[in-house]
Amino acid sequence: MLEVASLVKEYRRTRAVDGLSFTINPGEIVGLLGPNGAGKTTAMRCIAGILRPTSGTVRIHGYDIVQDHAKAKARLAFVPEVPGLYELLTVWEHLRFIAMCFDKLEVFERRCDELLDRYHLSEKRNELVVTLSKGMKQKLAVACALVHDADVLLFDEPLIGIDPAGAHEVKQELMRARDDGAAVLVSTHLLDTAERLCNRVIIVARGRKLAEGTLASLREEHAMSEATLEEVFLSLTREP
Ligand code: ATP
Repeated sequence: MLEVASLVKEYRRTRAVDGLSFTINPGEIVGLLGPNGAGKTTAMRCIAGILRPTSGTVRIHGYDIVQDHAKAKARLAFVPEVPGLYELLTVWEHLRFIAMCFDKLEVFERRCDELLDRYHLSEKRNELVVTLSKGMKQKLAVACALVHDADVLLFDEPLIGIDPAGAHEVKQELMRARDDGAAVLVSTHLLDTAERLCNRVIIVARGRKLAEGTLASLREEHAMSEATLEEVFLSLTREP
């Protein structure tokens, strides 16, 4: 389970996340939606323990990401918008290295071929990461996130730059993780995909939550029966 309570993150002159609270239960995919600069990536980076929140708390499976960060991070997988990979490792070495970091070498030995195969990286197994295309790097980052069977998965714009087959596979993977009981948070600008993939969405703008719920509940709450998620989103995020 992921619990975010009153999360605030200020940069020097900007309050990028402004009192964000939400919970994601095991077995749910939740979409984090918002216009450019809404604070999605900042919130994700705070939840992943990369940025220290100005205030508020993040709990992963009950562990506080600041106070108990090792235990929290052991349960967490984060795929950033731009994956920071070790370019001078081979694809196989990279996956193995991530498995070692999470003390999951045994699982890795069993699952490596399956992961490489699923993401069409088998033929790149012994190539250096620096030689991969952008989409292949994104797929490798997703494969790395799946090595240690995390309880909470965070995906920041996971479908950008991936070809249709890869995007299909990533979506299948998110659904598999959900069906296996993970709590999944996905930030995306692809509202059609969010509508089909997510159990619920959270719409943010200027660091604040504007709305949260299923498409049906958002339609009802905002008196927009029959509206698509895109129509609800545009109506809520329209600047005055
Ligand atoms: P996008 O959809 O464009 O990726 P986002 O919703 O992910 O946007 P963030 O990247 O979290 O938004 O940015 C939120 C706000 O914080 C923006 O006003 C941005 O300019 C600001 N910001 C982000 N990173 C920094 C930083 N390192 N230093 C100062 N301000 C930052």
